[in-house]
Amino acid sequence: MKQVGVHLLQSNATFDIEYTYLVEDTLVESGEIVRGSFVDVPFGVRKQLQTAVVWNLNKEADKSIRLKEISGVSKVRPPLTEEEMLLAEEMSRLYFCPISSCVKCLVPPEAPKGRQVNYAKLCITPEMVDELATSGQLKNIVHIRILENLKEGRRRVSDLAKEIGCTIAVFNTLAKRGYVSIEKDFFEEKHEIESSYSKQLNTYNKHTLNNEQQKAYDYLWRLIEKREFAECLLHGVTGSGKTELYLQLISQTVAEGGAALLLVPEISLTPQMTAHFKNRFGDNVAVLHSRLSDRERNIHWNKIKNGEVSIAIGARSAVFAPFENLRLIILDEEHEASYRSEDAAPRYHAAEIAETIAKIKGATVVYGSATPRVETYYRAIDKEIHYLSLKNRANKAPLPDVEIVDLKEERESGGIDRSGIFSRQLKTDMTNNYKNGKQTMLFVHRRGYSKQLLCESCGSTMKCGRCNMPMTYHEKGDRLICHHCGRTTPAPKICPACGGNAFEKRGIGTQRVADELKRIFPDANIVRMDTDTTSVKDGHEKLLAQFASGEAQFMVGTQMIAKGHDFPNVTLAGIISADSLINMPDYRAQERAFQLFTQMAGRAGRGDVPGKVIIQAYSVDDYAITAASNHDYDEFYKNEIVVREALYYPPFSSICIIRFMGENDMETYGIANAVCGKMRELKEASVEILGPARADIPKVNNKYRWVVTLKSCSRELLTRFLRKASQEKDILKTTGKVAKSISFHGR
Ligand code: ADP
Ligand code: ZN
Repeated sequence: MKQVGVHLLQSNATFDIEYTYLVEDTLVESGEIVRGSFVDVPFGVRKQLQTAVVWNLNKEADKSIRLKEISGVSKVRPPLTEEEMLLAEEMSRLYFCPISSCVKCLVPPEAPKGRQVNYAKLCITPEMVDELATSGQLKNIVHIRILENLKEGRRRVSDLAKEIGCTIAVFNTLAKRGYVSIEKDFFEEKHEIESSYSKQLNTYNKHTLNNEQQKAYDYLWRLIEKREFAECLLHGVTGSGKTELYLQLISQTVAEGGAALLLVPEISLTPQMTAHFKNRFGDNVAVLHSRLSDRERNIHWNKIKNGEVSIAIGARSAVFAPFENLRLIILDEEHEASYRSEDAAPRYHAAEIAETIAKIKGATVVYGSATPRVETYYRAIDKEIHYLSLKNRANKAPLPDVEIVDLKEERESGGIDRSGIFSRQLKTDMTNNYKNGKQTMLFVHRRGYSKQLLCESCGSTMKCGRCNMPMTYHEKGDRLICHHCGRTTPAPKICPACGGNAFEKRGIGTQRVADELKRIFPDANIVRMDTDTTSVKDGHEKLLAQFASGEAQFMVGTQMIAKGHDFPNVTLAGIISADSLINMPDYRAQERAFQLFTQMAGRAGRGDVPGKVIIQAYSVDDYAITAASNHDYDEFYKNEIVVREALYYPPFSSICIIRFMGENDMETYGIANAVCGKMRELKEASVEILGPARADIPKVNNKYRWVVTLKSCSRELLTRFLRKASQEKDILKTTGKVAKSISFHGR
């Protein structure tokens, strides 16, 4: 018997435990069990079978423990490759999480067997169907209609019978005559991605690259061709034709025998993007969107694994697509927040995974964006990664004019109406736009649960002196709280900046804006798009279709309206309150705001008529606003990087956020506090420990949330500290009703 070390797939431990099991020597010698094999092992007192991965083939274990034997090898899951195991180990190091949770990212969930149903398929050629019908050999109209239908491909018997209005027996008759065959297969679900919206899609054929594109293409191709690890930021203004560049690079990569992966934010995985890819690459593409069933996910995964396709396009988790000869990974809109996984450990960033995979495989990673993350741009300036820029719009459309409306002035001159939503300028422009039959998009930032105190006369927000973060207002106790360091103060009665004594506490939501629009334009159709209206099935697609068709003249929505959609008839975009974005309690608030303003500007004037953007704000001098109005990324970056350095935020530091969630507020706080205390006892000078502080959203689903923030100069130092703290002080041991999660920012 041999001793092997395995990782349990369903482990809920916060750190790695390698269990030792016995296995027959012959199983290892014959290669039936290798490193990476999935096996079943008896576990716990009840010896229930659990899935595990073999990690170590020669394990020295404590002889005093009675070991159990592995009970079988998985027949469905192929063993992990050495590269995949390396990736899992790297991830576990990067995110301080168990190897088993990383392995779970690499393999698709086991496919449910599903239901088998009958499909009818044509056994004769389409020409023979025509002949049978025209020659009169086939007289029954129902028979003819069925065969006509099957010319397009196989159909589910019950569906087609219902559509034509016949019995299922008719199919048996046709089968007996040898015209069709009936086969059993797993039921394929139809997906909303094929909804009405996709009917209005226009895709384009290959463009000849313009000079700028061609230069970028040549540069990138030289990197890809080398088959060595490389990263490149592709910084291209909106409309500079990045998609065409991607398509041609992918095409060339595939032509030379490589595989390529395009990652897009979930929200842009639209039928439009899919259509471009299907149009160019046909069946050589796997589309991995989040609405796939486990079965479909498995089918795609296997196609990729078996080399049946060499291109995949998908959202965040598609970064794990198991291409053998991957040579190119593109992250489109690399700044998008959806590349960060927040739901389960490991809370990874797709860019970091892409980087890790590319290092293992010797592939090139391209980060595309008009507004790259400050962290990415910093790496480019630092010459750590390659840098390319596209400064011109490919379709020659001019960038829209951006006008800033000073809400403070509007208020003082009585310009803003009683609702406090629309300035005179915005109202005038909306009215003209409406009269001219054009469409308008309005962006509203919903603050969710957190409210801030905004001085009504000068518009300044109350900030934490220590963190420079806006503090959140809590009605209970009339206090302000900093969600970063935990500091709290009574809400001021007088504004420290201007002496004013009136404060606005409420955030303006999408519903309020839509209601107000309806009041001003009673005959207009208004589409409201936020998490409330899009959570219904097909909601997102339907609303987009309604707006694309021109049926609605206004679209009001949150973040999700700013992205990727191409509506040529939109000539006006408005940002109702820029301050609410800038004042988010997050060190990336300015970055997010700048990105959003730029994206909104990208929405307006995509057609022949030039567009216009109106930004309403109190803090009109804020650099996120002024830089966006000048379409000037550098201006934004120069200001932002100074703040990041001064306050020791990424890219100058690395941050770890430990969240605690529990139903009992005091118990949750108690555990967070105890963990903090134990970590402080370690007296590690290179790690700063902040908190515990209430989370920016203090309560979700009846669970109270507290956060502890660690800051250090590198991720490496943070994870080393966490390892030490969990070994010596047991800080992460499972503590009953309080859940913990760890995420990282900065390298
Ligand atoms: P980005 O992704 O950089 O914002 P897109 O890829 O959406 O830009 O391109 C904007 C528009 O420019 C698209 O309508 C596209 O068809 C067009 N386009 C791209 N490349 C060219 C080219 N070389 N010549 C003409 N038009 C182009
Ligand atoms: Zn603070």
